[in-house]
Amino acid sequence: MGNQQNIKRIALLTSGGDSPGMNAGIRAVVRTAIFNNLKVTGVMNGFSGLLKGQYIEMEPHSVSKIISNGGTILKSSRCPEFIKAEARKQAYETMRRNQIDALVVLGGDGSFRGAYELFKEFNFPVIGIPCTIDNDIFGTDFTIGFDTAVNTAVGAIDKLRDTADSHNMVFFVEVMGRHSGFIAVNTAISAGAEEMLLPETKTKVEEICHYLVNLRRSNKTSGIIVVAEGDEEGGAVEVARKVKEILPEYQTRITTLGHIQRGGSPTANDRVLASLLGHAAVNGLLEGKTGVMAGRIHNQIVFTPLEEAFSKRNKIDQSWIEISRVISM
Ligand code: ADP
Repeated sequence: MGNQQNIKRIALLTSGGDSPGMNAGIRAVVRTAIFNNLKVTGVMNGFSGLLKGQYIEMEPHSVSKIISNGGTILKSSRCPEFIKAEARKQAYETMRRNQIDALVVLGGDGSFRGAYELFKEFNFPVIGIPCTIDNDIFGTDFTIGFDTAVNTAVGAIDKLRDTADSHNMVFFVEVMGRHSGFIAVNTAISAGAEEMLLPETKTKVEEICHYLVNLRRSNKTSGIIVVAEGDEEGGAVEVARKVKEILPEYQTRITTLGHIQRGGSPTANDRVLASLLGHAAVNGLLEGKTGVMAGRIHNQIVFTPLEEAFSKRNKIDQSWIEISRVISM
């Protein structure tokens, strides 16, 4: 270890959709950097603040008592201008004027695309930390925020189950996941849901109906169907409508969990992951790693090129869907 890169000041920002655990990541980055005698600049509002020079000096106490909070103290934003080369040049020049030698980006795949461009165009030292509830980043078993989001969804379904059971209802619960069913599959298994619809699999509404009828034959009178928002059959509203057309006698209800999945106090798992990855990201930069993301695979820190992190996908284990059906009958 050691500072072979002559890095004196690092900046960090949070970008894209917020995720619970970002603050724990910020805390780990700031304190690891200060431990290594680096100066730390906090960039407000993601890439937008990077362009405008919305910088604050970070001290060890700047990150006191934030580990238990969701959201991000540095705030986040979408910054469409960053797609343009002129904007990135402006960001690069603003960083250089402020003596920033390296950048840590906490965000999802979109944010990593922006970070990768800075690395490629200016050979600027950048490192990514995967923060998204969707768990859809390659190069890490889990992303920061995923565990909390699943626990939030499971807590909500546990409550819905009471009403579903009491009134013999079928609840269609929509969870986040436009392109990825990780939240849906983990939530469905943990909440004992009867069925799940994921973007990765083609489950037909007719199959769901067939399954519901069989359940009723075996005296199960209520059900929870977890629907990922990006399922090809539509979200929960659309799926419930189609089911009702086939089974008009069934009492159906729809709950869309929406943004409550993104907030709240991070679970211990997310805090640990964020702390380890924040620490690894700073040490990685000091060892000369750049254009990469710090992740954790099989309990080991792994650095994956950003280009792979945002272009490849971890695959859902299809056997989990079958297992879930077996154990929820
Ligand atoms: P997430 O990081 O959660 O996936 P977004 O996809 O909204 O969130 O991306 C966050 C930001 O990253 C965007 O608002 C934009 O500033 C930047 N970004 C996304 N894609 C690119 C790209 N292809 N080139 C440069 N910057 C990008």
